[in-house]
Amino acid sequence: MEKSFLIPISRRDLLKLAGLTAAGAVLSSNKNVEAAEPAKTQNFNFNGAQIPTLLRADVCVCGGGPGGTAAAVTAARNGLKVVLIEQGTVLGGSQTQALVYPAMPTRILNSDTPYITDLNKRFAMHGVSVDFSDEPKYKNGGDAREYTPELLAFIYDELCADYKVNVLYNATLIGTNTSGGKITAAIIHTVEGLSKIEANIFIDATGDAALSRFAGVQSPHGSEHTGRNQKMSLRFEMGGIEEMKVYKFFVKKLKDGWCESKPPEFEFAKTTHTEQFYYEGIQRGEVTKDDVAYIQAFTIIGKPGTMSMNCPEVSPYLYSSTSALDRSKAIQQCRIMIRRLANFFKKNIPGFKKAYISREASMLGIRESWRIRGKYYMTEEDYFAARKFPDAVCRSAYPIDIHDEALKLQKLANGEFYEIPYRALITNEFSNLIVVGRCISANFSAQAAVRIQPSCMSMGEAAGIASAYGLKNNIAVNNIDWASLPENIRSYVSAG
Ligand SMILES: Cc1cc2nc3c(=O)[nH]c(=O)nc-3n(C[C@H](O)[C@H](O)[C@H](O)COP(=O)(O)OP(=O)(O)OC[C@H]3O[C@@H](n4cnc5c(N)ncnc54)[C@H](O)[C@@H]3O)c2cc1C
Repeated sequence: MEKSFLIPISRRDLLKLAGLTAAGAVLSSNKNVEAAEPAKTQNFNFNGAQIPTLLRADVCVCGGGPGGTAAAVTAARNGLKVVLIEQGTVLGGSQTQALVYPAMPTRILNSDTPYITDLNKRFAMHGVSVDFSDEPKYKNGGDAREYTPELLAFIYDELCADYKVNVLYNATLIGTNTSGGKITAAIIHTVEGLSKIEANIFIDATGDAALSRFAGVQSPHGSEHTGRNQKMSLRFEMGGIEEMKVYKFFVKKLKDGWCESKPPEFEFAKTTHTEQFYYEGIQRGEVTKDDVAYIQAFTIIGKPGTMSMNCPEVSPYLYSSTSALDRSKAIQQCRIMIRRLANFFKKNIPGFKKAYISREASMLGIRESWRIRGKYYMTEEDYFAARKFPDAVCRSAYPIDIHDEALKLQKLANGEFYEIPYRALITNEFSNLIVVGRCISANFSAQAAVRIQPSCMSMGEAAGIASAYGLKNNIAVNNIDWASLPENIRSYVSAG
């Protein structure tokens, strides 16, 4: 779990804090170059432009993260011709490019939708031990911590090949053609230059709501109260670690209770027990306060001797995830912080003596940026009320997990859970658009709960099913009543 769980505040305090905080502007880093309007979407009108068509499909999925890959694979599995465009060279998005490992548990039973179970079966096929017993336990896509980002990337390619998803790597979505309340084409940039993908249905899985924004869907960003985004991180991995020595140091010497499990699966973090250890590093000038503001490291069982670092983070007061310039500056800043942290670990943690930086993320970790305003707008009230929806596409009890200076998380009582409605995935503006993943229609606090990977996958799966159902029955996807779909084709049926 991400470590901010350690600092719970009450629901009343959260709402009070949110209400009291003055509305502020999104802050940007100190720049030598002046950005015009950092948070604006540059919308170019491509309608009427002579752009060659590269591919035609039933469904065009933009963005190949956990949400987009699930959508593409499920749509193809349901007999549709699918194009999946991805700006990187790997599927998995944050999972593989930003090295975000492992998938967080939804913390509630029966949350795995069929796609997630199938993904776990794929892991098992590749030698990863997955617990398929009937033991009541949430397994959440990638529960088996033996998987690696590299194996996941391979499995996603394999899935796409099996179901004949046409994956277009190194293809960046830069705009749309729209007509009569429909998106008619995605404008992309590839090695061939500009071209377009024509499709009947478009799925926005870019995380940044890029497709929706380019088409003109209203998409707020940041906290409604502070204007700030969640903190961004550039994650990295270190190899050459003697795990037992690290474990003993944190558990035995520093008496860190955070580390509940034992090697090969364990983690260390900055907690009240280890705070002094990091503070001394600041005093000696080895690290800065910002470097150690948030520290968390997980073992990767599939890579013995390697740990995945869920850090460093940059301050949302200085860097906004909706500014292109800030994102670049944050990457440069994080790279400096990574070097300092690695040296600090090597010098001060037994077991890190021969450790080295084995991998740096190729994508900045963005927890939150733009979110669409869809037919249903989820808020923290849905979470606190453990609300159920007839058109729910999945369930979760993962807490509101905000990485910022002030607002922290709130957990639901044991056994309680909330659901995500299909209406949060569709808009009034476009009849053939579905949005999945971390940019669905949710306010800042609600997004902080729905953003975990298993939920993104289940949303994508529902989008794939809805696309096939809509095309087969000639129903616009933004008019589909998920609750009226036959139960046997739904990936999730509401508990409400
Ligand atoms: C630092 C950090 C730690 C986290 N920790 C955890 C954790 O431990 N467990 C967990 O479950 N969740 C965690 N999360 C949250 C989770 O990883 C993300 O919310 C989730 O991956 C979002 O999935 P997505 O499919 O919506 O988008 P993403 O994973 O962001 O994928 C979006 C994809 O779209 C592509 N794309 C974007 N724009 C374009 C474009 N214009 N053209 C073409 N392609 C484009 C991107 O390259 C990317 O592949 C963490 C997030 C961060 C940032």
